[in-house]
Amino acid sequence: MTSPPTHTAVLGAGIIGACSALELLRDGHRVTIVEPGPPGGEQAASYGNGGWLCPCSVLPVSEPGLWRKVPGYLADPLGPLAIRWRYFPKLLPWLTKFLRAGSSMGRVRKLARSLRPLVEGSPERHLKLATEAGVAHLIVRTGLIYVYPSRGDFLKEAPFWAIRHENGVRWLELDAQELRQREPQLDRHYQFGAFIEDGGHCTDPGAYVAALVRHAVSLGAMLVQADAVGFDIANGRLRGVRTATGTIACDRAVIAAGARSKALALAAGDDVPLETERGYHAMIATPEAGPRHPLMPSDGKMVNTPMAGGLRSAGQVELGGLEALPNWKRAEILREQARRAYPGLSVTDVKVWMGHRPSMPDSLPNIGPASGCADVLHAYGHGHIGLASGATTGRLVADLITGKPPVIDPGPYSVRRWR
Ligand SMILES: Cc1cc2nc3c(=O)[nH]c(=O)nc-3n(C[C@H](O)[C@H](O)[C@H](O)COP(=O)(O)OP(=O)(O)OC[C@H]3O[C@@H](n4cnc5c(N)ncnc54)[C@H](O)[C@@H]3O)c2cc1C
Repeated sequence: MTSPPTHTAVLGAGIIGACSALELLRDGHRVTIVEPGPPGGEQAASYGNGGWLCPCSVLPVSEPGLWRKVPGYLADPLGPLAIRWRYFPKLLPWLTKFLRAGSSMGRVRKLARSLRPLVEGSPERHLKLATEAGVAHLIVRTGLIYVYPSRGDFLKEAPFWAIRHENGVRWLELDAQELRQREPQLDRHYQFGAFIEDGGHCTDPGAYVAALVRHAVSLGAMLVQADAVGFDIANGRLRGVRTATGTIACDRAVIAAGARSKALALAAGDDVPLETERGYHAMIATPEAGPRHPLMPSDGKMVNTPMAGGLRSAGQVELGGLEALPNWKRAEILREQARRAYPGLSVTDVKVWMGHRPSMPDSLPNIGPASGCADVLHAYGHGHIGLASGATTGRLVADLITGKPPVIDPGPYSVRRWR
């Protein structure tokens, strides 16, 4: 049975909040979006990500034996991982859960089965939303390529590609010549590619989120510029959302504040192990050379995406909490790796950015009712795949509030798994 229309406050206007707001409006709900910054602005992870809409992003970040690789990553000044040691004591509980989450191939397989529904069909789902919002040109479906120095290097990751295959991911193997045809400016160091034909990308994630929110407002959503700080709950029912500037009366709320959702989750009765995986990008405005498709060089653990504003090289994982200042050396590493991948690349005009991936230890988001009040829904923790999985998450959030059969099984994303 579907519920009567509600007044739902969506807390946060990143990709998750924007998609949730639009799907709630589609179902006839009244929506108020609460967001302290500009929707799609630089404060949001949704602004600066790599733009990948990859139906193949089904692997959790944690994998068996990772703890053995970590010292090597940390020792490598050009490596993909850094830890701020002063933050380490605070990080330890999350890190322990993180290493355990992917400690066996069985666990990785189980998580992959839960990640796949979130990303399956993501380019099409985003194209539909973008078209409705009048920005269809921001979603491109020309595929994505993982590149390796050799087929042997690809085969070293065969168990993980097998899990992708088990989950319906398909790819085309490109030998050196085929790779060269598709990517003439890629360094000859890369001799093998796995081409994900049904992958897509967004050419300006910040503009995309801003357009979705503008569209939501044009459909009747209210946009309130404020920080949400808590909830008014009486007799187990939500009466309102408290913000820094006053209380908004409403009967449902969606926590979609990305990496800053932990305090709101606690206010709704759930102490969740949410961390930030700080990530960086280097945006090269006039690259003069670069990839034709979004590429992931296997040895760099980063993505290189052709975007409206130039070439974006995005990646790095820095574990150091929400408050530490950026270490721009991490962005320089990305720029340098891009320069090595495309010998003709000009890196004179570069803008750098740091943002916070909202990350749960098992790489699965929290989606579903809060323990302290079922009128409050969790919708954060999408880690490395929040852009791709935003469209399906938004639909799932609306289904749960409307009482429709859910678009995908919400079971794996319940916060109950952390009790
Ligand atoms: C370097 C990097 C590369 C990435 N690449 C990809 C990629 O290629 N593909 C992909 O799918 N994903 C990628 N991601 C991950 C993706 O960007 C995130 O998972 C996603 O943007 C999270 O969206 P969100 O809406 O949950 O959070 P955010 O985008 O961070 O939005 C949260 C919003 O909540 C607001 N907010 C904060 N506190 C409050 C409060 N108290 N009340 C109300 N609002 C509040 C913030 O201002 C912000 O606007 C990448 C991330 C990074 C950092």
